[in-house]
Amino acid sequence: MRRSFCRRAFSLTELMLVLAILGILAVVIVPRISNHQVSANKAACYANKRDIELQVKLWKRANNSYPAANLSDIGASTAYFPSGLPSCPVDGTAYTISTTTGFVSGHTH
Ligand SMILES: [Zn+2]
Repeated sequence: MRRSFCRRAFSLTELMLVLAILGILAVVIVPRISNHQVSANKAACYANKRDIELQVKLWKRANNSYPAANLSDIGASTAYFPSGLPSCPVDGTAYTISTTTGFVSGHTH
């Protein structure tokens, strides 16, 4: 009893146990962090779509027609997109719209 109380070093078994616990924690935590990033990008894409569709509606109200499908006209206007057109945070592609509905095409991640 007294011997174990006075010892100053960890045994190899104790070190291996700690490393095993850290390894298990890493296996559990790291995928959760990376999955979180993927779902955050999907949510950001969804927010971009809604923002673009809202600006497209405002454009249609002002101009009585939808902007170009590739958004070249509305995207160049700082009144609608002061910091430029966003691109998809999931796959990096540009957004396009349907010129009959005004909705963003694709991006159903
Ligand atoms: Zn997207």
